Amino acid sequence: MADLALSRSALGRVALERRRPEILTELLDDPRTRVAEVRGDRMRVAPSRDGRDGRDGRDGASGDGLLQLALRAPEAADHAGLGLHLGRDADGTAYVGVVTRENGPADGATDPADDGWLTLRQAGEALAPRDAGVFTTALALANWHATHRFCPRCGAATEPTQAGWVRRCEREGSEHYPRTDPAVIMSVVDPDERLLLGRGVHWPEGRFSVLGGFVEPGESFDAAVAREVAEEVGVTVDGARYLGNQPWPFPSSVMIGFAATTRETELTIDPVEMAEARWVSREEYRDLLRGGTIRTPSGISIAKRIIEHWLGQTVESVLPPGRARGF
Ligand SMILES: [Zn+2]
Repeated sequence: MADLALSRSALGRVALERRRPEILTELLDDPRTRVAEVRGDRMRVAPSRDGRDGRDGRDGASGDGLLQLALRAPEAADHAGLGLHLGRDADGTAYVGVVTRENGPADGATDPADDGWLTLRQAGEALAPRDAGVFTTALALANWHATHRFCPRCGAATEPTQAGWVRRCEREGSEHYPRTDPAVIMSVVDPDERLLLGRGVHWPEGRFSVLGGFVEPGESFDAAVAREVAEEVGVTVDGARYLGNQPWPFPSSVMIGFAATTRETELTIDPVEMAEARWVSREEYRDLLRGGTIRTPSGISIAKRIIEHWLGQTVESVLPPGRARGF
C-alpha cells in the first residue's frame, strides 16, 4: 500500500548534522533556511502557488494543487523558540521547525483556520510530499517535547539538544530520545470476503472503521493483530498480511496496517471498547455509504486506505462528489 498521506516525506534526515552543537544557530542565521513555524498543533498553510502535482516533482517540493506550508526565512525571534532540524531537500536547503507558541496560534476566540493555521488532520492530505513530511515530523517532535520536560530517571528538568532530537537531563546528563508508539490496524475478512467493521464506545452512530490497537511490550506486530481482534470481537484470526504503515503523530504513533483473515463469524463484543461490530459485504458497504448510514474514516488515515484495499475501489468512486468527507 503505497502513497499513504503521511508517509510521503521527501526530506533527507541528515542525522549526523544534529550532533554539531551549533547547527541550529547556524541554520537560523542563514537566510536560505526554510522555517516551518509550529503553534500548538498547527502550521500555517496557503493555497499552492503553481498548482503542479508535487508527487511527480523531483523532490516533491511543489504544491499538489491545493495547499502548501507557508515556509519563511528565519527571524531573530526564532532563536528563542524550540528549534527542530527536520532535514534537507535534494537541493541541500535545510528545513527547521520552530515551536513559537505551545498553546496555539492566538489567544483570541476566532478560528485559527481563518488565518491559515491548520492542523495536520485538516491539511495533511492536500500537502505535497515535502510539506506533508515537514508537518508530520515537526508535529511528532513537538508533541514529544511538550510532554517530556522531566527526566524519567531522576525527575530533574531536561533540556533539548542534538538539534531537537534528544533531551538531556540537567542533573545527571542522561539522554532521552523521542518515542514512537506502534499501533496495529487491520481488516478482518471472513470466508465470504465480508469485512468486519466496528464502532468504538465513544464514537457517534454511523461511524465505523476497521479494528486496531497498541502493540504491547514484548509483543510482535502479528501477535498484536491476533490479540486485538480476539479481545474486541472474540474472533480468532488465521493469519495477517502486512499492507503498509504511516506515522500518526496524534500524539506519537506509527500505524502498521494488516489484512487478516478468519473462519469464525460469530462476534463476542468487548463492551468496554466496542459499541457494535458487524460484517459487511462489498455490495452492502457501497449501499451503506450511498445511503449515508455509515461514514468512512478520513482520507488522511490508513484505516480508509485499508477499507478501500478490501473494497477494490476508492470511497470517492462510490459516493458522488462532495459526499465523501470522512470523520
Ligand atoms: Zn535525570
